[in-house]
Amino acid sequence: MTRIRGVVLAWLQVQVTGLVLLGVLAVPALSAAADDADRDGAAVDAWVKDALPGLVDTYRFLHQNPELSLEEENTAAFAAETLRKAGYEVSERIGGFGVIGVLENGDGPTLLIRGDMDALPVSEATGLAYASQAKTKRPDGSQVGVMHACGHDVHVTNLVGTAQMLAALRGDWRGTLVILAQPAEELGKGARMMIEDGLFDRIPLPDHAIALHVEGNLPAGWIGYVSGWAAANVDSVDITIHGRGGHGARPHSSIDPVVTAAYLVTQLQTIVSRRVNPIDPAVVTVGSIHGGSKHNVIPDQVDLQLTVRSYSDEVRSLLLDSIRQLTESTCLAFRCPQPPDITIKDEYTPAMYNDPALSAKGAAVFEAFLGEERVVAMPAAMGGEDFGRYHRAKGFPAFMFRLGTVEAGAYEAARKQGEPLPSLHSSRYAPDPEPTLETGLRATGRLALSLLGRP
Ligand SMILES: [Zn+2]
Ligand SMILES: [Zn+2]
Repeated sequence: MTRIRGVVLAWLQVQVTGLVLLGVLAVPALSAAADDADRDGAAVDAWVKDALPGLVDTYRFLHQNPELSLEEENTAAFAAETLRKAGYEVSERIGGFGVIGVLENGDGPTLLIRGDMDALPVSEATGLAYASQAKTKRPDGSQVGVMHACGHDVHVTNLVGTAQMLAALRGDWRGTLVILAQPAEELGKGARMMIEDGLFDRIPLPDHAIALHVEGNLPAGWIGYVSGWAAANVDSVDITIHGRGGHGARPHSSIDPVVTAAYLVTQLQTIVSRRVNPIDPAVVTVGSIHGGSKHNVIPDQVDLQLTVRSYSDEVRSLLLDSIRQLTESTCLAFRCPQPPDITIKDEYTPAMYNDPALSAKGAAVFEAFLGEERVVAMPAAMGGEDFGRYHRAKGFPAFMFRLGTVEAGAYEAARKQGEPLPSLHSSRYAPDPEPTLETGLRATGRLALSLLGRP
């Protein structure tokens, strides 16, 4: 017993001595890290101060010249040219108009920074002097404007600006930087197209991936972030219910697909409420339902379009299996003359997971220069973002943060009046360029330097 106590005491002594030693060693190590962060911050701020006016011009130019998903030719060429001039090895037309820039700068971690380039078919109504005049044709032949209503012009400007900054500051870091300008995010396809076109054969495997997205509900100069699940699996499902059309006055001699569809819509709402665990987020929305042409005609078919959202793979399977089962059995119950057509689009957008450790590191880096009150943890949401596809493909930690964009006065006025601000994808969404870009560049530059190696 005494011997055991002696051994335990000796062990404790070693541990305590070790802790004291560790403490002595850790203090200088911590302050060295703080010194590095201060030095990085000062270098980033000085670069941003000089470059900001030029980058605001770049932003206005991109805003005025938006290109739709899969048509990002000029935006991609601009990104490629800027990267090449800054010393990157550039590959173009990867998965459509995707651009990859690689800057090797000695031994160290590989960091991937991604920005997306595509605009939306929205007629701009901001009234800005640099509003987009671009137009496109809808499938029915009518005209609609093209607008950077999701702020991807901010993303491209931030991406090329950060790339230039880190090339200029290459004496301050070691490792490999991968800059990725992605097409077709709004279709949920661009990341997949780039991966299928050999993205990961062309670059070293990233140790980390970061990106930002503009936020329409946060003032410029603020940053928001979600730790953990931050965007949902997004599936699209098309359903056609087949009936047997006829005269509206003779329902008994028809099989009415409108009534079948009406039942199905309400049945589908029982999936989330009755089949999914209440603490697992899930959405089943029937966004489109079309059938018939006239009051007194029972149509032959009704078409439905659904968006289906989840975080986990298990819930995703449960939702899709349940939709199939309920649709088939409802059609059977209503004596449909043939089984329904159910198409689950295979180009789904996988959920995005913000690595909690990387999110915490990002938040600490941002708080160090913005102050704690301007860096806000945001609630998770069920939007879609195909940035998640990269880390899902290879398993490295990733982090996308939200960049505040709203002009301070407009934000305050909206808050006081309880009025909602124009959301992303709205024709009136207008970021405040200078403070938005300044904060984005300072945040991305500092976070990048904190993830790359030291010389
Ligand atoms: Zn969008
Ligand atoms: Zn977007």
